[in-house]
Amino acid sequence: MRVVLLILLFVSMQLSAQTKSEYGVEVIEDVSTYRGQVEENPNMQLVSLKDQEGIYFDIHYATKNNFVGEIVYPTADAFARKQVAEALQKANSIFAKKGLAIKIFDAYRPYAATVQFYELVEDTTYVASPYSGSRHNRGCAVDLTLVDKETGEDLNMPTSYDHFSEKAHPTFMDLEEEQINNRQLLIEVMESVGFKVYSYEWWHFDFIGWEDYPLMNLSFEELKQSR
Ligand SMILES: [Zn+2]
Repeated sequence: MRVVLLILLFVSMQLSAQTKSEYGVEVIEDVSTYRGQVEENPNMQLVSLKDQEGIYFDIHYATKNNFVGEIVYPTADAFARKQVAEALQKANSIFAKKGLAIKIFDAYRPYAATVQFYELVEDTTYVASPYSGSRHNRGCAVDLTLVDKETGEDLNMPTSYDHFSEKAHPTFMDLEEEQINNRQLLIEVMESVGFKVYSYEWWHFDFIGWEDYPLMNLSFEELKQSR
């Protein structure tokens, strides 16, 4: 009898641990929990940014052109929570008046990718700690730059994407004037629609209110199927 109780206790502990990652944070890992949350609050929906007009994409993690040097995402998709997507659309319409458009490098990132990055880098200045998770895992962060719509070229910014040095800090000033101005424009418009630039990366923006959204570990495929 005692053995049976112990087994039952063990099994129930395993079940209740299902949403806890090995780093001890709560992560949504199943489609039905996610669907339930969306039903309760439509803002929970992770919408495909690819459905939005006028936004450019260069999803580095779907290629080998990233700091990992490996393909991390099986498809070049970009998702964000409903309100985040709406704010991005608002920013893009402001940029459009200047002949510019936003170009997204990364948006929602499944939690498993954050764990992969951390285990590779083991420094949490430029990659998120799996103990807290990334705001990308909440569908509330975007990495992006600006494109000149006429030429299709990226604007001259302080560094390339995922350049890990102080040159990437939004306060770094030993740059060309054009780079400072372009970075300034990007930050000003993004912050006017509800984002906050990250102190170490000029390209990373957190949506204000990200705390209200859980960490997620659903794949792009699962998100597409649950639409
Ligand atoms: Zn980022």
